[in-house]
Amino acid sequence: MDSFLIQRATRRQATFAGAIALLILLTLAVAAPRAGLQWPAISPFMPMCALTVFTTASIAAFLLGAQFTVTRQPMLGALGGAYAFTALAVALQLLTFPGVFSPTGLFGAHPTSAGWMWVFWHGGFPLFVIVAVLMRDRFSSDAIASGHVSLWAWLLIGGPVVVGVLLCSFAVLTNLPPPLHADNRDNPIAVVLWAINAIAVLTVVASGRLRAVLDVWLAIAALACLTDTTLNLLSTDRFTVGWYVARLFSMFAPGVLVCVLVWEVTALYRRLFEAHVSLRQASVRDALTGLYNRAYFNEQIVSQLGAAQRSGQPLSLVMVDVDHFKRYNDAFGHLKGDACLAAVAHALAGVVRRPADFIARYGGEEFVVVLPETDANDAMALAERAREAVLRLRIEATAPSRYVTVSAGCATSVPGSGALSIDTLVETADAALYRAKAAGRNLVMTAQPAPGAFT
Ligand code: GH3
Ligand code: MG
Ligand code: MG
Repeated sequence: MDSFLIQRATRRQATFAGAIALLILLTLAVAAPRAGLQWPAISPFMPMCALTVFTTASIAAFLLGAQFTVTRQPMLGALGGAYAFTALAVALQLLTFPGVFSPTGLFGAHPTSAGWMWVFWHGGFPLFVIVAVLMRDRFSSDAIASGHVSLWAWLLIGGPVVVGVLLCSFAVLTNLPPPLHADNRDNPIAVVLWAINAIAVLTVVASGRLRAVLDVWLAIAALACLTDTTLNLLSTDRFTVGWYVARLFSMFAPGVLVCVLVWEVTALYRRLFEAHVSLRQASVRDALTGLYNRAYFNEQIVSQLGAAQRSGQPLSLVMVDVDHFKRYNDAFGHLKGDACLAAVAHALAGVVRRPADFIARYGGEEFVVVLPETDANDAMALAERAREAVLRLRIEATAPSRYVTVSAGCATSVPGSGALSIDTLVETADAALYRAKAAGRNLVMTAQPAPGAFT
């Protein structure tokens, strides 16, 4: 089964993503020359930003993991791992950042620990993205047996988390020199970090050629991470233009994928709901005539008769049967017979007008009309209108009659002494129908139930 993420991106999605990519590059072009410019210090900005990244990256990891367990596409699991790694690294960076939870950071962190965690985060995420993209090129969903999918989910998402824990522990336990300097042009760590980010963007673009939904939005996320890294390397000082804008992109990178995932899941839900509604519609309809089917009649008559008895109102039932239909089929063939049935059904439906009334195909060339709050006289009148409506179609028939006709039998359940069970109601209408047939057809009859038939 293919995830919607693997499906081809629509032109609208591609255009929208293209506009966002342009906006990112434009922001980079504007912010880069001013990266070192100091802006007013807003102390809560950093923890607020870190918390947002942690939350959105965790959600992205969860949603991608869930997609993986359904589709078994290893790339989705690996991407979930990339976001899980981000969530862990940013959380540990926040906890060990000097002056946030404690003056020197939690866990006995060294002054450089948080800086290293930032490096792991900005190097790890693009690296795991590259791994995920390469996995798609190498493994299909068949590579993972359905029985092992949970185990693989734990490995693909848990693996990067374990790597993150090990790296961050190393940064806390070891007194490392600061990874970044004020000027990072000759700093090999910065150069490697930037290169990994650039390679991640290129790998995503080259591997998927921006065809699938995932390729398009992953490229945007990777571009946001590259911009974030670039601006931070240009200005490592806090509260500068580069620092602020970089943090905005930190939040954007996981946020964009969460938005796409939630948007697409919502779209899927809508399609599922529509499919459910149309399936439900199809399951109660007769394919040939478009009328309700026998199953719907069986279900509805129970509630309608119950409601009629509770409200003290009569309920009538009219059985309609096409006259000499076997002869019609024999003379014109079954295809014409089908067309004739559809036309008769349409004519019958035309006389059933009140919202609570309904007509169903009872079987073969027999139809049943259910008329709540309708007494015997009104039911007879409606049946008569139905008979006339079919005659008015003037469908050529063979002898004995010139046109196709119907006969109808009516029965009415009157609350109190005249209340009928469903079976008796149907049998009574049937008996009336056969009296109409016996009396020459193209007739409407009403029948009294046999003595003792009342419930
Ligand atoms: P009567 O006037 O006594 O009702 O005679 P009849 O020939 O209509 O009655 P009978 O029950 O003997 O035959 C009903 C025919 O309806 C037989 C069957 O071939 C035809 N029929 C039932 N369902 C369909 C259908 O879906 N399409 C077509 N073309 N014919 C059908
Ligand atoms: Mg019949
Ligand atoms: Mg018939």
